[in-house]
Amino acid sequence: MERSCERAIELGLPAIAFTDHADFVKVHPDQYCVDIVGYLDAIDRCRARFTGLRILSGVELGEPHWFPKETAAILGAGSLDNVLGSVHCIKLDGETVDASQLRERAGVDFEAATRDYFAEVLAMIEGGQPFETLAHLDYPKRYWPQDGTPYREKDFEAEIRAVLSAAARTGRVLEVNTTRGRLLCPDITVVRWWREVGGQAVQYGSDAHDPDKIAEGFPIATQMVEAAGFKPARDPVSVWRR
Ligand SMILES: [Zn+2]
Repeated sequence: MERSCERAIELGLPAIAFTDHADFVKVHPDQYCVDIVGYLDAIDRCRARFTGLRILSGVELGEPHWFPKETAAILGAGSLDNVLGSVHCIKLDGETVDASQLRERAGVDFEAATRDYFAEVLAMIEGGQPFETLAHLDYPKRYWPQDGTPYREKDFEAEIRAVLSAAARTGRVLEVNTTRGRLLCPDITVVRWWREVGGQAVQYGSDAHDPDKIAEGFPIATQMVEAAGFKPARDPVSVWRR
């Protein structure tokens, strides 16, 4: 985290947010649940050391609707500036699978699995868990097979619009995740739909996982969001609004 703060200052960023993972399933080696007490200590240490940088705390709750008790324990541990909700996993033939693992399994129907994924995102939004931002809503796109039909937002328009409408109705913020500079999740098609269904706000995440990747892809993401009809916030830590 300290190296990330140094990198943020080097880039001239006015602020940085650490939204560490709170995953309660472990089907993937990268999944873990933040040690929330240690994490909040680390935030305090960074704030004391980098006084010229605004440092926001937060977590990315993984499938919080499956784990209300665990979610409450994390959120009850201290005050957090930014709480994201995300789905990484779906149930496939009764087994919990991360969307990044679908490629490794024989005979997976990607289109059907992606529809299941969006149904899970909808269930999370409607599940009443207290998160304000919807993270990387089209996560399976990152792992879409290179051979065969490419991923097209249009093919999932009904499912995505249902997700966006529920998110707008419940006052959520849409995250545009730049996947460490590799891919916009979601892209402009979806951000335009977000505006159409009444979505009010957008925020950015580079999902950096590494100090070198902080804010990677933000120039293109911000241009895209502006083109979709959202305006930059005056305060650099605020969400962009329509
Ligand atoms: Zn995630």
